[in-house]
Amino acid sequence: MSMNLVNRTLVKNAGHIAGEWCQADSGATIAVYNPATGEPLGQVPDMGVIETRAAIDAASQALAGWSALAPKERARLLRAWYDLIIEHKEDLALLMTLEQGKPLFETRGEVMYGASYIEWYAEEGKRAYGKVFAAPTADKRALSIQQPIGVVAAITPWNFPNAMITRKIAPALAAGCTIVVKPSEETPFSALALMALAEQAGIPAGVINMITSSQAAAVGRVLTDDSRIRKLSFTGSTRVGKLLYAQSAETVKKLSLELGGNAPFIVFDDADLDAAVAGAVISKFRNAGQTCVCANRILVQDGIHDAFVARFKAAVEQLVVGNGLNDATTLGPVINQAAIDKIAGMVDTAQSQGASLVTGGQRHEAGALFFAPTILTGVTQQMDIARQEIFGPVAPIIRFKDDAEAINIANDTPYGLAAYFYTESHSRIWKVAEALEYGMVGINEGILSNEIAPFGGVKESGQGREGSSQGLEDYMETKYLCMGGIR
Ligand code: NAP
Repeated sequence: MSMNLVNRTLVKNAGHIAGEWCQADSGATIAVYNPATGEPLGQVPDMGVIETRAAIDAASQALAGWSALAPKERARLLRAWYDLIIEHKEDLALLMTLEQGKPLFETRGEVMYGASYIEWYAEEGKRAYGKVFAAPTADKRALSIQQPIGVVAAITPWNFPNAMITRKIAPALAAGCTIVVKPSEETPFSALALMALAEQAGIPAGVINMITSSQAAAVGRVLTDDSRIRKLSFTGSTRVGKLLYAQSAETVKKLSLELGGNAPFIVFDDADLDAAVAGAVISKFRNAGQTCVCANRILVQDGIHDAFVARFKAAVEQLVVGNGLNDATTLGPVINQAAIDKIAGMVDTAQSQGASLVTGGQRHEAGALFFAPTILTGVTQQMDIARQEIFGPVAPIIRFKDDAEAINIANDTPYGLAAYFYTESHSRIWKVAEALEYGMVGINEGILSNEIAPFGGVKESGQGREGSSQGLEDYMETKYLCMGGIR
Protein backbone atom coordinates (compact mmCIF):
# COMPACT_ATOMS: atom_id res chain seq x y z
CA MET A 1 0.00 0.00 0.00
CA SER A 2 1.47 3.34 -0.85
CA MET A 3 0.80 7.02 -1.24
CA ASN A 4 -0.35 6.28 -4.82
CA LEU A 5 -3.76 5.64 -3.31
CA VAL A 6 -4.07 9.27 -2.34
CA ASN A 7 -5.16 12.05 -4.72
CA ARG A 8 -1.77 13.42 -5.79
CA THR A 9 -2.78 17.06 -5.45
CA LEU A 10 -2.99 16.48 -1.70
CA VAL A 11 0.48 14.95 -1.33
CA LYS A 12 2.85 17.88 -0.91
CA ASN A 13 6.60 17.49 -0.56
CA ALA A 14 7.15 21.14 0.28
CA GLY A 15 6.61 23.64 3.06
CA HIS A 16 4.42 26.70 2.49
CA ILE A 17 5.63 30.28 3.05
CA ALA A 18 4.04 33.49 1.75
CA GLY A 19 1.77 31.59 -0.62
CA GLU A 20 4.61 29.57 -2.16
CA TRP A 21 5.40 25.87 -1.85
CA CYS A 22 9.08 25.77 -1.04
CA GLN A 23 12.02 23.54 -0.16
CA ALA A 24 14.57 24.04 2.61
CA ASP A 25 17.27 26.54 1.63
CA SER A 26 19.82 23.83 2.41
CA GLY A 27 17.99 21.31 0.21
CA ALA A 28 17.80 18.91 3.19
CA THR A 29 14.79 16.64 3.57
CA ILE A 30 13.14 14.46 6.23
CA ALA A 31 11.93 10.95 5.39
CA VAL A 32 8.46 9.99 6.65
CA TYR A 33 7.63 6.34 7.37
CA ASN A 34 4.49 4.24 7.63
CA PRO A 35 4.50 2.94 11.24
CA ALA A 36 2.45 -0.14 10.26
CA THR A 37 4.98 -1.43 7.73
CA GLY A 38 8.18 0.58 8.18
CA GLU A 39 7.94 1.58 4.49
CA PRO A 40 9.18 5.06 3.56
CA LEU A 41 6.24 7.17 2.42
CA GLY A 42 8.02 10.21 1.06
CA GLN A 43 10.00 13.26 2.02
CA VAL A 44 9.36 16.79 3.16
CA PRO A 45 11.85 19.66 3.47
CA ASP A 46 13.94 19.93 6.59
CA MET A 47 13.57 23.64 7.20
CA GLY A 48 15.25 25.61 9.94
CA VAL A 49 15.89 29.06 11.34
CA ILE A 50 16.00 30.97 8.04
CA GLU A 51 12.75 29.54 6.69
CA THR A 52 11.03 30.08 10.06
CA ARG A 53 12.00 33.75 9.99
CA ALA A 54 10.70 34.00 6.43
CA ALA A 55 7.41 32.45 7.56
CA ILE A 56 7.10 34.98 10.40
CA ASP A 57 7.82 37.79 7.89
CA ALA A 58 5.06 36.45 5.64
CA ALA A 59 2.54 36.12 8.46
CA SER A 60 3.40 39.65 9.67
CA GLN A 61 2.91 41.11 6.21
CA ALA A 62 -0.41 39.32 5.73
CA LEU A 63 -1.78 40.42 9.11
CA ALA A 64 -3.05 43.90 8.19
CA GLY A 65 -5.08 42.67 5.21
CA TRP A 66 -6.49 39.60 6.92
CA SER A 67 -7.46 41.32 10.16
CA ALA A 68 -9.15 44.13 8.20
CA LEU A 69 -11.54 41.74 6.45
CA ALA A 70 -15.05 41.64 7.82
CA PRO A 71 -15.53 38.57 10.04
CA LYS A 72 -18.20 37.45 7.58
CA GLU A 73 -15.65 37.44 4.75
CA ARG A 74 -13.18 35.41 6.82
CA ALA A 75 -16.06 33.09 7.66
CA ARG A 76 -16.78 32.56 3.95
CA LEU A 77 -13.17 31.49 3.32
CA LEU A 78 -13.08 29.21 6.37
CA ARG A 79 -16.34 27.64 5.23
CA ALA A 80 -14.89 27.06 1.74
CA TRP A 81 -11.91 25.32 3.40
CA TYR A 82 -14.27 23.19 5.48
CA ASP A 83 -16.24 22.16 2.38
CA LEU A 84 -13.04 21.10 0.57
CA ILE A 85 -11.93 19.03 3.58
CA ILE A 86 -15.26 17.23 3.61
CA GLU A 87 -15.01 16.67 -0.16
CA HIS A 88 -11.54 15.12 0.30
CA LYS A 89 -12.35 13.30 3.53
CA GLU A 90 -11.42 9.83 2.24
CA ASP A 91 -8.02 10.92 0.92
CA LEU A 92 -7.18 12.85 4.07
CA ALA A 93 -8.11 9.81 6.17
CA LEU A 94 -6.03 7.49 4.03
CA LEU A 95 -3.03 9.80 4.15
CA MET A 96 -3.33 9.98 7.93
CA THR A 97 -3.59 6.21 8.37
CA LEU A 98 -0.49 5.82 6.19
CA GLU A 99 1.67 8.21 8.20
CA GLN A 100 0.17 7.90 11.69
CA GLY A 101 -1.09 4.31 11.77
CA LYS A 102 -4.52 4.52 13.40
CA PRO A 103 -7.33 2.60 11.65
CA LEU A 104 -9.29 4.21 8.84
CA PHE A 105 -12.52 4.45 10.86
CA GLU A 106 -10.59 6.58 13.36
CA THR A 107 -8.85 8.76 10.78
CA ARG A 108 -12.19 9.37 9.04
CA GLY A 109 -13.50 10.39 12.46
CA GLU A 110 -10.56 12.71 13.02
CA VAL A 111 -11.00 14.41 9.65
CA MET A 112 -14.64 15.15 10.53
CA TYR A 113 -13.72 16.19 14.07
CA GLY A 114 -10.89 18.43 12.80
CA ALA A 115 -13.19 19.99 10.19
CA SER A 116 -15.85 20.65 12.82
CA TYR A 117 -13.57 23.28 14.39
CA ILE A 118 -13.30 25.10 11.07
CA GLU A 119 -17.07 25.05 10.62
CA TRP A 120 -17.65 26.17 14.21
CA TYR A 121 -15.14 29.04 14.14
CA ALA A 122 -16.35 30.20 10.72
CA GLU A 123 -19.57 30.94 12.60
CA GLU A 124 -18.12 31.94 15.96
CA GLY A 125 -15.80 34.55 14.41
CA LYS A 126 -18.93 36.65 13.74
CA ARG A 127 -19.69 36.67 17.47
CA ALA A 128 -16.68 38.47 18.92
CA TYR A 129 -18.68 40.82 21.10
CA GLY A 130 -17.38 43.84 22.99
CA LYS A 131 -18.98 45.25 26.13
CA VAL A 132 -20.34 48.58 27.31
CA PHE A 133 -19.84 49.19 31.03
CA ALA A 134 -21.83 51.36 33.43
CA ALA A 135 -19.51 54.39 33.67
CA PRO A 136 -18.24 55.55 37.09
CA THR A 137 -19.00 59.25 36.41
CA ALA A 138 -21.57 61.09 34.32
CA ASP A 139 -19.03 62.59 31.91
CA LYS A 140 -17.46 59.28 30.92
CA ARG A 141 -18.40 56.25 28.85
CA ALA A 142 -16.53 52.97 29.12
CA LEU A 143 -16.46 50.11 26.66
CA SER A 144 -14.24 47.31 25.43
CA ILE A 145 -13.63 45.87 21.99
CA GLN A 146 -12.13 42.54 20.96
CA GLN A 147 -9.21 42.57 18.52
CA PRO A 148 -7.03 39.83 17.01
CA ILE A 149 -3.91 39.25 19.07
CA GLY A 150 -1.63 39.36 16.00
CA VAL A 151 0.72 36.79 14.49
CA VAL A 152 0.39 33.37 16.10
CA ALA A 153 2.74 30.36 16.18
CA ALA A 154 1.42 26.81 16.47
CA ILE A 155 3.47 23.70 17.28
CA THR A 156 1.55 20.44 17.05
CA PRO A 157 2.05 16.71 17.81
CA TRP A 158 1.74 13.55 15.71
CA ASN A 159 -1.10 11.82 17.56
CA PHE A 160 -3.86 13.90 15.92
CA PRO A 161 -2.09 15.18 12.79
CA ASN A 162 -5.20 16.94 11.46
CA ALA A 163 -7.34 18.04 14.39
CA MET A 164 -4.57 19.46 16.59
CA ILE A 165 -3.84 21.83 13.69
CA THR A 166 -7.40 22.85 12.80
CA ARG A 167 -8.15 23.47 16.50
CA LYS A 168 -5.55 26.23 16.37
CA ILE A 169 -5.75 27.60 12.81
CA ALA A 170 -9.54 27.90 12.77
CA PRO A 171 -9.98 30.16 15.83
CA ALA A 172 -6.79 32.10 14.97
CA LEU A 173 -8.03 32.90 11.46
CA ALA A 174 -11.59 33.55 12.60
CA ALA A 175 -10.26 36.09 15.11
CA GLY A 176 -8.25 37.85 12.37
CA CYS A 177 -4.80 36.48 13.23
CA THR A 178 -2.26 35.02 10.80
CA ILE A 179 -0.23 31.96 11.70
CA VAL A 180 3.00 29.98 11.36
CA VAL A 181 2.50 26.25 11.95
CA LYS A 182 5.14 23.64 12.69
CA PRO A 183 3.60 20.17 12.58
CA SER A 184 5.37 17.11 13.99
CA GLU A 185 8.06 15.69 11.74
CA GLU A 186 6.39 12.27 12.14
CA THR A 187 3.16 13.36 10.42
CA PRO A 188 3.77 16.35 8.12
CA PHE A 189 1.74 15.09 5.14
CA SER A 190 -1.64 15.50 6.85
CA ALA A 191 -0.68 19.07 7.75
CA LEU A 192 0.49 19.89 4.21
CA ALA A 193 -2.69 18.41 2.71
CA LEU A 194 -4.73 20.77 4.91
CA MET A 195 -2.51 23.60 3.69
CA ALA A 196 -3.16 22.64 0.05
CA LEU A 197 -6.91 22.75 0.63
CA ALA A 198 -6.68 26.09 2.45
CA GLU A 199 -4.88 27.51 -0.57
CA GLN A 200 -7.53 26.05 -2.89
CA ALA A 201 -10.24 27.62 -0.70
CA GLY A 202 -8.75 31.04 -1.41
CA ILE A 203 -7.24 31.83 1.98
CA PRO A 204 -4.73 34.55 1.01
CA ALA A 205 -0.97 34.10 0.79
CA GLY A 206 0.87 34.48 4.10
CA VAL A 207 -2.20 33.96 6.28
CA ILE A 208 -1.21 30.33 6.96
CA ASN A 209 2.46 29.35 6.69
CA MET A 210 3.80 25.87 7.31
CA ILE A 211 7.35 24.88 8.25
CA THR A 212 8.40 21.22 8.21
CA SER A 213 11.51 20.52 10.22
CA SER A 214 13.47 17.94 12.18
CA GLN A 215 15.03 20.78 14.17
CA ALA A 216 12.11 21.40 16.49
CA ALA A 217 14.18 23.06 19.21
CA ALA A 218 15.79 25.56 16.81
CA VAL A 219 12.48 26.39 15.12
CA GLY A 220 10.79 26.69 18.51
CA ARG A 221 13.49 29.10 19.66
CA VAL A 222 12.95 31.39 16.64
CA LEU A 223 9.20 31.35 17.22
CA THR A 224 9.47 32.16 20.93
CA ASP A 225 12.22 34.79 20.56
CA ASP A 226 10.50 36.81 17.83
CA SER A 227 8.51 39.65 19.38
CA ARG A 228 6.19 39.78 16.34
CA ILE A 229 4.68 36.47 17.44
CA ARG A 230 2.17 37.56 20.05
CA LYS A 231 0.82 34.14 20.91
CA LEU A 232 2.12 30.60 20.94
CA SER A 233 -0.29 27.69 20.88
CA PHE A 234 1.40 24.40 21.66
CA THR A 235 0.05 20.87 21.93
CA GLY A 236 2.50 18.21 23.02
CA SER A 237 4.38 16.92 26.01
CA THR A 238 4.56 18.68 29.37
CA ARG A 239 8.36 18.63 29.12
CA VAL A 240 8.45 20.64 25.87
CA GLY A 241 5.51 22.80 27.00
CA LYS A 242 7.47 23.92 30.06
CA LEU A 243 10.49 24.76 27.89
CA LEU A 244 8.36 26.87 25.55
CA TYR A 245 6.63 28.55 28.51
CA ALA A 246 10.04 29.60 29.86
CA GLN A 247 11.27 30.71 26.43
CA SER A 248 8.14 32.82 25.92
CA ALA A 249 8.73 34.82 29.09
CA GLU A 250 11.24 37.14 27.42
CA THR A 251 8.64 38.50 24.98
CA VAL A 252 5.66 37.97 27.35
CA LYS A 253 3.65 35.99 24.83
CA LYS A 254 0.14 34.83 25.45
CA LEU A 255 0.18 31.01 25.63
CA SER A 256 -2.14 28.14 25.02
CA LEU A 257 -0.57 24.92 26.29
CA GLU A 258 -2.32 21.60 25.74
CA LEU A 259 0.06 19.20 27.48
CA GLY A 260 0.21 15.67 28.79
CA GLY A 261 -2.30 13.91 31.01
CA ASN A 262 -2.71 11.06 33.50
CA ALA A 263 -6.45 10.49 33.25
CA PRO A 264 -8.18 8.49 35.98
CA PHE A 265 -11.18 6.43 34.81
CA ILE A 266 -13.21 5.62 37.93
CA VAL A 267 -15.83 2.88 38.06
CA PHE A 268 -18.00 3.00 41.19
CA ASP A 269 -19.94 0.02 42.56
CA ASP A 270 -23.25 1.46 41.33
CA ALA A 271 -22.03 1.97 37.73
CA ASP A 272 -23.78 0.55 34.68
CA LEU A 273 -21.16 -2.13 34.08
CA ASP A 274 -21.71 -2.54 30.34
CA ALA A 275 -21.48 1.23 29.80
CA ALA A 276 -18.34 1.43 31.95
CA VAL A 277 -16.63 -1.40 30.05
CA ALA A 278 -17.51 0.14 26.68
CA GLY A 279 -16.33 3.56 27.87
CA ALA A 280 -13.06 2.16 29.22
CA VAL A 281 -12.28 0.33 25.97
CA ILE A 282 -12.84 3.39 23.81
CA SER A 283 -11.14 5.79 26.20
CA LYS A 284 -8.11 3.54 26.71
CA PHE A 285 -7.55 1.92 23.33
CA ARG A 286 -8.51 4.43 20.65
CA ASN A 287 -5.50 5.64 18.71
CA ALA A 288 -3.62 2.68 20.30
CA GLY A 289 -3.74 4.53 23.62
CA GLN A 290 -1.93 7.55 22.21
CA THR A 291 -4.31 10.35 23.12
CA CYS A 292 -3.67 12.97 25.76
CA VAL A 293 -7.12 12.22 27.25
CA CYS A 294 -6.74 8.42 27.21
CA ALA A 295 -7.63 6.66 30.45
CA ASN A 296 -4.20 6.18 32.03
CA ARG A 297 -5.37 4.57 35.28
CA ILE A 298 -8.58 2.60 35.67
CA LEU A 299 -9.83 2.80 39.26
CA VAL A 300 -12.45 0.18 40.14
CA GLN A 301 -14.36 -0.07 43.41
CA ASP A 302 -14.06 -3.29 45.46
CA GLY A 303 -17.61 -4.56 45.00
CA ILE A 304 -17.57 -4.41 41.18
CA HIS A 305 -13.83 -5.03 40.61
CA ASP A 306 -13.79 -8.70 39.60
CA ALA A 307 -16.92 -8.44 37.43
CA PHE A 308 -15.48 -5.37 35.69
CA VAL A 309 -12.11 -7.05 35.04
CA ALA A 310 -13.79 -10.16 33.57
CA ARG A 311 -15.98 -8.15 31.17
CA PHE A 312 -13.22 -5.69 30.32
CA LYS A 313 -10.86 -8.59 29.48
CA ALA A 314 -13.47 -10.14 27.19
CA ALA A 315 -13.99 -6.80 25.39
CA VAL A 316 -10.26 -6.07 25.06
CA GLU A 317 -9.61 -9.51 23.60
CA GLN A 318 -12.08 -8.63 20.80
CA LEU A 319 -9.81 -5.82 19.57
CA VAL A 320 -8.32 -6.59 16.15
CA VAL A 321 -4.65 -5.61 15.93
CA GLY A 322 -3.29 -4.84 12.47
CA ASN A 323 -2.59 -2.41 9.67
CA GLY A 324 -5.07 0.47 9.88
CA LEU A 325 -5.84 0.11 6.15
CA ASN A 326 -7.67 -3.18 6.81
CA ASP A 327 -11.35 -2.60 7.49
CA ALA A 328 -11.42 -5.09 10.36
CA THR A 329 -8.59 -3.41 12.29
CA THR A 330 -9.49 -1.67 15.54
CA LEU A 331 -5.97 -1.26 16.99
CA GLY A 332 -3.05 0.01 14.91
CA PRO A 333 0.67 0.42 15.63
CA VAL A 334 2.27 2.95 17.94
CA ILE A 335 4.19 5.79 16.36
CA ASN A 336 7.86 4.71 16.48
CA GLN A 337 10.50 2.44 17.98
CA ALA A 338 11.14 4.67 21.01
CA ALA A 339 7.42 4.56 21.83
CA ILE A 340 7.11 0.77 21.70
CA ASP A 341 10.31 0.27 23.70
CA LYS A 342 9.01 2.64 26.38
CA ILE A 343 5.64 0.86 26.57
CA ALA A 344 7.25 -2.59 26.81
CA GLY A 345 9.57 -1.31 29.53
CA MET A 346 6.66 0.14 31.53
CA VAL A 347 4.76 -3.15 31.42
CA ASP A 348 7.83 -5.09 32.58
CA THR A 349 8.50 -2.63 35.39
CA ALA A 350 4.87 -2.75 36.54
CA GLN A 351 5.05 -6.53 36.81
CA SER A 352 8.35 -6.37 38.68
CA GLN A 353 6.67 -3.91 41.08
CA GLY A 354 3.83 -6.38 41.76
CA ALA A 355 1.17 -5.91 39.04
CA SER A 356 -0.47 -9.02 37.51
CA LEU A 357 -0.93 -9.55 33.79
CA VAL A 358 -4.53 -10.29 32.74
CA THR A 359 -4.04 -10.21 28.97
CA GLY A 360 -1.46 -9.04 26.42
CA GLY A 361 1.83 -7.89 27.90
CA GLN A 362 4.09 -8.18 24.90
CA ARG A 363 4.78 -6.97 21.38
CA HIS A 364 2.36 -8.24 18.73
CA GLU A 365 3.28 -10.26 15.64
CA ALA A 366 1.46 -7.79 13.34
CA GLY A 367 4.73 -5.82 13.02
CA ALA A 368 7.62 -4.13 14.76
CA LEU A 369 5.55 -1.27 16.19
CA PHE A 370 2.49 -3.24 17.34
CA PHE A 371 1.83 -3.92 21.03
CA ALA A 372 -0.81 -6.41 22.20
CA PRO A 373 -3.70 -4.77 24.07
CA THR A 374 -2.79 -5.25 27.71
CA ILE A 375 -4.55 -5.26 31.09
CA LEU A 376 -2.71 -5.20 34.41
CA THR A 377 -4.43 -5.66 37.79
CA GLY A 378 -3.12 -5.16 41.32
CA VAL A 379 -1.65 -1.81 40.30
CA THR A 380 -1.11 0.76 43.05
CA GLN A 381 -0.72 4.50 42.88
CA GLN A 382 2.92 4.11 43.99
CA MET A 383 3.92 2.15 40.87
CA ASP A 384 5.65 3.97 38.02
CA ILE A 385 2.91 2.99 35.57
CA ALA A 386 0.33 4.93 37.61
CA ARG A 387 2.46 8.06 37.69
CA GLN A 388 3.60 8.36 34.06
CA GLU A 389 1.71 8.95 30.84
CA ILE A 390 1.65 5.48 29.19
CA PHE A 391 0.69 6.56 25.65
CA GLY A 392 0.13 2.97 24.56
CA PRO A 393 -2.51 0.19 24.63
CA VAL A 394 -1.98 -0.75 28.28
CA ALA A 395 -4.72 -0.54 30.93
CA PRO A 396 -3.56 -0.59 34.58
CA ILE A 397 -6.34 -1.33 37.06
CA ILE A 398 -6.25 0.04 40.63
CA ARG A 399 -8.72 -1.26 43.23
CA PHE A 400 -10.26 1.22 45.72
CA LYS A 401 -12.64 1.13 48.70
CA ASP A 402 -14.60 4.39 48.85
CA ASP A 403 -15.16 7.75 47.19
CA ALA A 404 -12.56 9.58 49.28
CA GLU A 405 -9.87 7.07 48.36
CA ALA A 406 -10.77 7.23 44.65
CA ILE A 407 -10.62 11.04 44.65
CA ASN A 408 -7.30 11.04 46.51
CA ILE A 409 -5.74 8.62 44.04
CA ALA A 410 -7.24 10.46 41.07
CA ASN A 411 -5.84 13.82 42.16
CA ASP A 412 -2.43 12.46 43.21
CA THR A 413 -0.66 13.64 40.04
CA PRO A 414 0.79 16.88 38.69
CA TYR A 415 -1.43 16.43 35.61
CA GLY A 416 -4.99 17.70 35.31
CA LEU A 417 -6.33 17.18 31.79
CA ALA A 418 -9.23 14.70 31.61
CA ALA A 419 -10.91 12.42 34.17
CA TYR A 420 -13.83 10.02 33.79
CA PHE A 421 -16.20 8.30 36.20
CA TYR A 422 -19.17 5.99 36.05
CA THR A 423 -21.97 6.02 38.63
CA GLU A 424 -25.77 6.05 38.66
CA SER A 425 -25.98 8.28 41.76
CA HIS A 426 -26.72 11.93 41.10
CA SER A 427 -25.23 13.03 44.44
CA ARG A 428 -22.02 11.24 43.60
CA ILE A 429 -22.02 12.80 40.12
CA TRP A 430 -21.92 16.28 41.64
CA LYS A 431 -19.58 15.51 44.55
CA VAL A 432 -16.99 13.65 42.49
CA ALA A 433 -17.16 16.03 39.50
CA GLU A 434 -16.49 18.97 41.82
CA ALA A 435 -13.66 17.22 43.66
CA LEU A 436 -11.65 16.14 40.62
CA GLU A 437 -8.78 18.55 39.85
CA TYR A 438 -9.14 18.27 36.08
CA GLY A 439 -10.04 20.57 33.22
CA MET A 440 -12.51 18.07 31.74
CA VAL A 441 -14.63 15.33 33.29
CA GLY A 442 -16.49 12.60 31.41
CA ILE A 443 -19.47 11.38 33.47
CA ASN A 444 -20.78 8.04 32.23
CA GLU A 445 -19.00 8.93 29.01
CA GLY A 446 -15.62 7.85 27.63
CA ILE A 447 -15.32 10.40 24.80
CA LEU A 448 -15.68 14.06 25.61
CA SER A 449 -14.01 16.22 23.00
CA ASN A 450 -15.95 18.24 20.44
CA GLU A 451 -15.86 21.69 18.92
CA ILE A 452 -18.58 23.25 21.06
CA ALA A 453 -16.90 22.58 24.42
CA PRO A 454 -13.83 24.14 26.09
CA PHE A 455 -11.03 21.54 25.84
CA GLY A 456 -8.01 21.99 28.07
CA GLY A 457 -6.23 21.15 31.27
CA VAL A 458 -5.27 22.50 34.69
CA LYS A 459 -2.07 22.04 36.76
CA GLU A 460 0.81 20.78 34.58
CA SER A 461 -1.55 19.75 31.78
CA GLY A 462 -1.55 23.32 30.56
CA GLN A 463 -3.60 26.46 30.18
CA GLY A 464 -6.01 27.98 27.70
CA ARG A 465 -8.96 26.26 26.05
CA GLU A 466 -9.61 25.04 22.51
CA GLY A 467 -13.15 24.82 21.13
CA SER A 468 -16.19 26.85 22.24
CA SER A 469 -16.32 30.65 22.47
CA GLN A 470 -13.35 30.48 24.88
CA GLY A 471 -11.22 29.07 22.07
CA LEU A 472 -11.83 32.26 20.09
CA GLU A 473 -11.18 34.57 23.03
CA ASP A 474 -7.75 32.93 23.42
CA TYR A 475 -6.77 34.53 20.07
CA MET A 476 -8.12 37.97 20.91
CA GLU A 477 -7.12 40.86 23.13
CA THR A 478 -9.56 43.03 25.02
CA LYS A 479 -9.06 46.75 24.46
CA TYR A 480 -10.73 49.12 26.92
CA LEU A 481 -11.87 52.47 25.50
CA CYS A 482 -12.49 55.25 28.00
CA MET A 483 -14.36 58.22 26.51
CA GLY A 484 -14.36 61.43 28.51
CA GLY A 485 -15.81 64.93 28.20
CA ILE A 486 -19.36 63.73 27.60
CA ARG A 487 -21.59 66.75 28.31
P1 NAP B 1 6.36 16.51 21.94
O1 NAP B 1 7.58 15.70 21.84
O2 NAP B 1 6.25 17.52 23.00
O3 NAP B 1 6.18 17.17 20.51
C1 NAP B 1 5.12 18.06 20.21
C2 NAP B 1 5.59 19.05 19.17
O4 NAP B 1 6.65 19.84 19.71
C3 NAP B 1 6.14 18.41 17.91
O5 NAP B 1 5.83 19.23 16.80
C4 NAP B 1 7.63 18.41 18.18
O6 NAP B 1 8.38 18.36 17.00
C5 NAP B 1 7.79 19.76 18.87
N1 NAP B 1 8.97 19.89 19.72
C6 NAP B 1 9.74 18.94 20.29
N2 NAP B 1 10.74 19.51 21.00
C7 NAP B 1 10.61 20.87 20.85
C8 NAP B 1 11.34 22.01 21.34
N3 NAP B 1 12.40 21.86 22.13
N4 NAP B 1 10.91 23.23 20.98
C9 NAP B 1 9.84 23.39 20.18
N5 NAP B 1 9.11 22.35 19.69
C10 NAP B 1 9.48 21.11 20.03
O7 NAP B 1 5.08 15.60 22.09
P2 NAP B 1 4.64 14.36 21.18
O8 NAP B 1 5.38 13.17 21.67
O9 NAP B 1 4.71 14.69 19.74
O10 NAP B 1 3.10 14.26 21.52
C11 NAP B 1 2.63 13.55 22.59
C12 NAP B 1 2.33 14.46 23.77
O11 NAP B 1 1.37 15.42 23.40
C13 NAP B 1 1.73 13.71 24.92
O12 NAP B 1 2.29 14.13 26.13
C14 NAP B 1 0.27 14.10 24.86
O13 NAP B 1 -0.42 13.98 26.08
C15 NAP B 1 0.35 15.49 24.37
N6 NAP B 1 -0.91 15.90 23.77
C16 NAP B 1 -1.68 16.78 24.45
C17 NAP B 1 -2.90 17.17 23.92
C18 NAP B 1 -3.77 18.14 24.68
O14 NAP B 1 -4.68 18.67 24.07
N7 NAP B 1 -3.53 18.39 25.94
C19 NAP B 1 -3.34 16.67 22.70
C20 NAP B 1 -2.52 15.77 22.02
C21 NAP B 1 -1.30 15.40 22.58
P3 NAP B 1 8.86 16.96 16.38
O15 NAP B 1 7.76 15.98 16.55
O16 NAP B 1 9.11 17.29 14.97
O17 NAP B 1 10.08 16.59 17.16
